[in-house]
This record gives sequence, C-alpha cells and structure tokens, in this order.
Amino acid sequence: MSLFEDEVVKKLLEYYRIIWAINHAQSLLSWDTETNMPIKGVEERSIAMAELAALAQRLMLKEEFAKLVEEAEKREGLNIYEAGVVRVLNRSLKIYRSLPEWLVKEFAKVSEEAKVVWRQAKEKDDYKLFEPYLDKIIDLNRKAADFLGYEEHPYDALLDLYEEGFRTRDADRMFNLLESELKDIFDKIREAGKYPSKHQLEEVKYNKDAMKRVNEEILNILGYPRDRARMDVSAHPFTIEMGIDDVRITTRYEGFDFKRSLFSTIHEFGHALYALQVDPRFKATPLAGGASLGIHESQSRFWENIIGRSREFTEAIYPIIKKHLDFITAYTPEEVYLYFNTVRASLIRTEADEVTYNFHILLRFKIEKMLIEGSLKVSDVPEYWNNMMDSLLGIKPKNYSEGVLQDIHWSMGNIGYFPTYTIGNIVSAQIRHHILKAIPDLYEKVYSLKFDEIREYLKEKVHKWGSVFKPADLLKHSFGEEMDAKYFLDYLREKYLS
Ligand SMILES: [Zn+2]
Repeated sequence: MSLFEDEVVKKLLEYYRIIWAINHAQSLLSWDTETNMPIKGVEERSIAMAELAALAQRLMLKEEFAKLVEEAEKREGLNIYEAGVVRVLNRSLKIYRSLPEWLVKEFAKVSEEAKVVWRQAKEKDDYKLFEPYLDKIIDLNRKAADFLGYEEHPYDALLDLYEEGFRTRDADRMFNLLESELKDIFDKIREAGKYPSKHQLEEVKYNKDAMKRVNEEILNILGYPRDRARMDVSAHPFTIEMGIDDVRITTRYEGFDFKRSLFSTIHEFGHALYALQVDPRFKATPLAGGASLGIHESQSRFWENIIGRSREFTEAIYPIIKKHLDFITAYTPEEVYLYFNTVRASLIRTEADEVTYNFHILLRFKIEKMLIEGSLKVSDVPEYWNNMMDSLLGIKPKNYSEGVLQDIHWSMGNIGYFPTYTIGNIVSAQIRHHILKAIPDLYEKVYSLKFDEIREYLKEKVHKWGSVFKPADLLKHSFGEEMDAKYFLDYLREKYLS
C-alpha cells in the first residue's frame, strides 16, 4: 500500500516529480563537475546548472503549485508521511517566496565573485582583498534574514535554513556549555599525557593505489552496497545522492598521513549510509533527503569517530592496513590507535581532532552572530579571530590563510552553516549512548567487524525516516529526548580521561 493516499498530497507529489527530476540531474552534474569533467567544461556546465536551478525555482513558484501546497496544509487527518511532504514543500516554498528575485540574483553574483577572490586572498594572504566581499555577504545575509523573518534574533532566520527549528538561543546554550567543559577536558588530556599531540605516522608517505585498496576493503567491511553506491576521488571529499539507490562518495589521497584518507572515507560512508537506508517508498519524493545537515553530520561522525576511532575498530582493521601499507609493521595496533587519536591545539578546522574541533566552530558561530547583529565589524574579524584562538586553544595564527581565510563557507555566502557541525558531533555521541543500551556489546561487534545490527539500529532510529520529521522531532520520536551536549562531554571524558 502506498504511504500517500490523500488526494491533494498525491497531486502535490505528482507535480513535485519533475522538480525531483531536475534535482536528480543537478546532482549528477555536480558530481561530474567534481570528479570527471575536463577542466574547460566549467563554463558551459555553469550555464547549464544556473538554468536548471532557475527552472526548478520557476516550477516551485508557479501558482498551481503554491495552491496545492496551501490546500494540502488545510487537509485534516494526514498521516505522518503526508504531513512530512506538506511540511517540507511548504518550507521550501516559503523560503523561495520570501526572498525577492533581485536578492537571489545578487547572492549568486556576489558569491560567484567572492569564491574567486577568496582563493586569491588566501593564496596572497591578504584579508583586505576579501574584506569588501565579506562585507557584502554579511549585508545580503542580513537582508535575507529580514525577508525570511525571525522572532528573536536575525541570525535565527539564517540558522533555520540549515537546521530547521534551531535558534540562536539554542546555539548560545550549546556553545556556552561546551566552551567551559571542553577547556577543562582539553587541559586534563594534556596533563594526563596518555594521548599524544603528535605522531610519527603523520609524516609517513604512502602509495596511493595501496591506500585505495585499504579504503575499498574498509568500505566492503562496513557494508557499502556496490550495486547502489560508488567511490571516486575529488579534492574535497563529499557525498551526493541521485536517489535512494544511487549514492556516491569521494575521498582524497594526499600521499602522506594515511589516516586523513581513511577517515574521510569512513566519514563519507556515514553520510552515504543515511541516504541508502531511507525508506524506499520515499523514492522521488521530498522525503528522500535527511532530516537536516546536523543530523546528517551526526551519521558521518558516528562512523568516523564513535566507531572508526575506537580501539576495537583500530585493532580489527590493523591486519587490513598491514596487508596494503607495509610500513605499518613497525607499529603496534596500540600505536596506530594513538596515531588515530592525537589531540592538539591546531589552527585548521578540518585537521582538528574530536576534542578540539568544536572550539573552531564556536569561534565561527560567535563571529557570525556578531556580524549579523552588527556588534562586530568585518574589518575587526581577524583581530577577534586571533585573540579568540589564543584564549580557546592558546595558539595564534601567523597569517590569514591559517586563520580567518581558511574556510570556503563565507565566500559561498553561507552564514549559519557552521553550527551544524557541532550539532552533528553532539548527536553522534547521544546516539552512542542510546545504541549502547540497545546493543550493550556494541564494541565487541565492532571488534569482530560485524556491523549489521549497528546499521539496522541507525536505519530504524534515524535513516528510514528521511525528512518526515524536523531534526528536533526526530530525536524526540526516536530517542525520547532533545539534543543534549552532555552525552558528547561524557563520551570525551570516558574515552580520554578514564
Ligand atoms: Zn560531513
């Protein structure tokens, strides 16, 4: 039986299929752009992408569609799936309708230029070059917030774009708790000296083909279905789905410090598994995506950190690593475990460990919030950044490239995105707490590389629901509680300090 029986919802889904098809094509084009496209294809590809985006937008904004959504909103007795469809479509429609065309165009134009300038500024280590663009991006985001509407803080409207229902006040509470507690945990880890801040293996070079064989074998063990998924190479690893039965990840090979490639692969596997385990009845509907960026990140972090960086997993995959990377014979499994879990104050977010990572997000959140409310000037960001790094981690960037200019997000116009990384870290630890109640011998299963039950648990609690629920409602539905940072802090204390 179909999940969607309501007449209006059925019509809505029928209409939506063409929008879905456009999204499907866009995904495939984006994937191709990052993995296979000859370099000169970029100009025509950009035109095609812009036209497809405009076409999808036109279809969304057609009176016929808006009427159907409005009508569906008034229907009574919808089941949770039908209500989910209406919620998701109503939300996108609201966003499309709130933002005037000139603003959307200006956004596209400014971010297109800003990305290029940001790259130059980063290379030349010249913040002044990027400053006017960041200024514009903040201004456009502030305008967007006004058009989108908010109750308490303009930043609410921006956060909501990436994490439905998540407010500045929630972020404040989350980061305030983390700031004091994480400082304490980090200090104690350094005092205890059990986990090293550096490891010899970070310098060791590897053969890329050999590393690829490690990654492929690990994916097989984790249960990556090759008839529905694949792995390729790109500069910045990502996961993209054409649909529930066609999910693609990428990884990278720097040629040294093999854990980067390994954990990138496991991270993206976590994203991919989410997409692959959505209820197959949601095919070609708006429910086929995940609940939010934060919930998505919880899945990648769960596999990368909670499973991947555990002692049990390290010991279990040690023979596989040894088989392909022979330099590893000089190290015991315990040494490899310590290499996987070095903890140190570092300047670059993407290289941060699971203890210090959230300091980097906290810093970005504070800056974004102040920029949007107007209490910090764009010209003062570098100084604020450096002082805050000093107070959080006791280190100061020597140049802009390893400080304020390191991330691409702002140049793309994304303000309000960063907090979803921390939400992911927190929720991954929260899920760990709950899965340990359901599967008390979780880590024995990990040690014997048996992941069926773990995949099944995640499917039942998170994946299969797609975007039926808002993120907070999903947590309440599946775990009976709200997001709680205490689980993450407990996890770190247990792992690093007990
Ligand atoms: Zn991710």
